[in-house]
Amino acid sequence: MKYYSTNKNSAEVSLQEAVVKGLAPDKGLYMPERIEKLPQEFFDKIDTLSFQEISFEVAKAFFGEDIETETLRQIVYDTLAFETPVVEVEKGIYSLELFHGPTLAFKDVGGRFMARLLEYFVKKQGQKDVKVLVATSGDTGSAVANGFLGVEGIHVYVLYPKGKVSKIQECQFTTLGQNITALEVDGTFDDCQALVKTAFLDEELNKVLNLTSANSINVARFLPQAFYYFNAYAQLKRQGKADNVVFSVPSGNFGNITAGLIAKAMGLPVKRFIAANNDNDIFFQYLKTGIYSPRASVQTIANAMDVGNPSNFARVLDLYKNSHKAIAAEITGFSYDDKIIAATLKTAFKATGYLLDPHGACGYQSLKEDLKEGETGVFLETAHPAKFLETVEEIIGEKVEIPEKLQAFMQGEKKSILLANDFNDFKKLLLAEK
Ligand SMILES: *Cc1c(COP(=O)(O)O)cnc(C)c1O
Repeated sequence: MKYYSTNKNSAEVSLQEAVVKGLAPDKGLYMPERIEKLPQEFFDKIDTLSFQEISFEVAKAFFGEDIETETLRQIVYDTLAFETPVVEVEKGIYSLELFHGPTLAFKDVGGRFMARLLEYFVKKQGQKDVKVLVATSGDTGSAVANGFLGVEGIHVYVLYPKGKVSKIQECQFTTLGQNITALEVDGTFDDCQALVKTAFLDEELNKVLNLTSANSINVARFLPQAFYYFNAYAQLKRQGKADNVVFSVPSGNFGNITAGLIAKAMGLPVKRFIAANNDNDIFFQYLKTGIYSPRASVQTIANAMDVGNPSNFARVLDLYKNSHKAIAAEITGFSYDDKIIAATLKTAFKATGYLLDPHGACGYQSLKEDLKEGETGVFLETAHPAKFLETVEEIIGEKVEIPEKLQAFMQGEKKSILLANDFNDFKKLLLAEK
C-alpha cells in the first residue's frame, strides 16, 4: 500500500517510509491510498471475535501487503495486551474505556503499535541511532516512551510544555531513563509540536540524523486507533445495542476521531460522530462557519486537548474532499469551558457513581445534550481520571484511588532537560547527542 501526502506536493511512499519519516516533505500528513471496505461476513460475526482478532483483520486491510502475516499478527497481539471495555454509565450512554493499557490513556494503542512497527523496520534496515521526536500535551509522551522503553537502536525525545501537564502525566515520561530523554520546553504544546515539525524539515539535521515522529501525525500511531471503534461495536452488538451508534470523541489534535472516521469508511456501521472540544474550539468554530482559523491554545483542565492548530484536521479535510458540508453532515461539534467540564464531572459522579476524567466529561456531556431517540451513545473515555488527580479530587471533593500501575511511575526520580522555545537550541541539543 502506498501513502500520499495530504498536501499532494510530494511523492507517494511505502509504509516503511511513511512510518520512518512521519511527516511528508511538503509538510502534509500521510494517508493510505486505499481505505478498504471489510467484507460483510466480518461484521456478521464480529460479536464472536476477540479484540485482538478484530484488530488483526483491520490491521491486515492497511498493513497486510507490507508486513508478513505472522509478524503483523504478533505486533497486533502484543500491542493489545489489554481490553477496551464498553461500560454503561446510564441508559443509552456508554463509556468506551480506553485507559486499561500500561499508561492509562488511549494513546497506549497507537504508541505500542508504532513502537513495535518501527522496531521491525529499523531492524530490517539494519539502522542504528534512530531518534524519535514526540511532542506531548500529556498522554502521548508516556504512551510512546513506555512503548519504546529499552528498544535497542531507538532513542526517544519527549518534548512537553513546562508546567502544563499534570504531575502524574509528567512522571510517566521523566522517570524512565534508559533511551528516553524528556525535554521540558518553555512554551505551549503547539510550540513543542512546531519544534518537532521544524526538525523534520531541517535539511542539515536530516542529513546527519535518522529522525522520526511518534505523534498522531505518524500513520503507525494513527491508523491502529481504528481498532477500538470496531471492538466497541462488537461489544454493543453482543448486547443488541449496535443500531444507530453515535461516537463522541474528546478531541484535541483530532487523531482519535479521524481514526473513527476511517473505521466508518471501512464499513463500520456508525450513525454519526461528535467532536467534543474544550475552550480550544477551533474545530467547533470551523463546523459553524466553514472557516478554519487556528489560534494559540489556551490552558484548560482537559489539558490533553489544549491544541490550537490540530494536525489531523488536514486528514479530515482530505477524507471529505475539502467539503465543509460533508464534514458537518458527519460530525457535530461541542465546546465546553472548564466550569462546565467540572460541573459535568461532579454531577455525573453524584448521579451515576461513574467517575469521568475531564476529557471524557466533554464526550459524555455532548451525548447528554445531543443524543436522539433510538441512538446509542458511546463516548471515548480517553484516560483514567487518576491521571488528573488534583483536578478531579478538587471537583468531587473526595480522594481518588490511584491504580497500582500509576503508583509505580510516581516512585521514580524526575529527570528532564530544560529547553527554551527556540529551534536552534533544540537543534544543537540533538546534534550534540549524535
Ligand atoms: C490526546 C488526548 C486527547 C485528544 O486526542 P486527539 O487524538 O489529539 O484528538 C483527549 N483526551 C486525552 C486524555 C488525551 O490524552
